[in-house]
Amino acid sequence: MHSFGYEIKSRQGRARAGIFHTPHGDLETPLFAPVGTQATIKSVTPSQLEELNAGLVLANTYHLYLRPGDETIAQLGGLHTFMHWDRPILTDSGGFQVFSLANTRKIDAEGVTFKSHIDGSTHRITPEKSILIQENLGADIIMAFDECGDPYDLEKNQVALRHTHAWAERCVKAKTRSDQALFGIIQGGVYPELRIQSVDYLASLDLPGYAIGGLSVGETKQETLAILELVDTYLPENKPRYLMGVGSPEDLITGVQRGVDIFDCVLPTRLARHHTAISRTGRINVANARYTSEKSPLDDTCSCYTCRNFSSAYLRHLVLAKEILAATLLTIHNLNTLLTLMRDIRFAIISGRFNEFAADFLEHYEKCA
Ligand SMILES: [Zn+2]
Repeated sequence: MHSFGYEIKSRQGRARAGIFHTPHGDLETPLFAPVGTQATIKSVTPSQLEELNAGLVLANTYHLYLRPGDETIAQLGGLHTFMHWDRPILTDSGGFQVFSLANTRKIDAEGVTFKSHIDGSTHRITPEKSILIQENLGADIIMAFDECGDPYDLEKNQVALRHTHAWAERCVKAKTRSDQALFGIIQGGVYPELRIQSVDYLASLDLPGYAIGGLSVGETKQETLAILELVDTYLPENKPRYLMGVGSPEDLITGVQRGVDIFDCVLPTRLARHHTAISRTGRINVANARYTSEKSPLDDTCSCYTCRNFSSAYLRHLVLAKEILAATLLTIHNLNTLLTLMRDIRFAIISGRFNEFAADFLEHYEKCA
């Protein structure tokens, strides 16, 4: 039996610095998890990720179920062995991709039937099936199968919430492995009464952690922040909170200010493949002609491998020549920016100066963005 205890070491306002224990090591929170959709963080190796001191990485159940198949990965020793990553991994439930990527989908009270976006074949995922797939993959943190409704459709959100709650309970019953922590996902769109209902119901299941779902799907920033504050007020304090799909520097700061402990997002890796670097002062378009003869690194406050060794002019050259190394070097830089930002946030909370840190960061970031 593994313990997934969460210890809060320090707090300032709603912000928390803690440690989440997993079978593949302790995670220091708040943290940012890079996304490895296909069991790889695009363009970087696991040893490069270790050098960046990444803790948790995310992999997508929907994609790995369709290809190469969760049973194949289980036969090959599970996801940690398959992708050569022996630190913690989180898999999502597959729900979000079924709703956003699959060609056609039919939702009923029992689950979802959909056609693969790869070859059009028909599949069905139920809560029990999602848990079976995630047990085959073998991540440390797994997610309950949920339904994300349109944020502004009250009636659809009420139905989605009924499904999400019934399915979470079925996931708990279906789960057989004790070395995986099952997180519940709070839904309810922009409707405070539904969000409170969702927190109350999922908290009654006493799960080891909670995700806040259905945000960053079209609602305004003000609505997102209001929901986070509301959810923070009602969630059990001694469990980690995970805000799914959020990862711009300003959103990390404002999320931590509202009690979030874990974030994931494709943003740093996706921007890197589109020639954009993230710095503490804003975004940098590396293809810009101003870098043609620029000897200095992209970000002279950054200590990553890319900034220690390469000029902006060299990076611009790689981008214009469409060299693969451009994506690798920019991904290393972007991940380093977010991972060191989270470590600095954590240190600021522990040393009691997070409010000043956040105000200073947001003022400087907005000025230059
Ligand atoms: Zn750098």
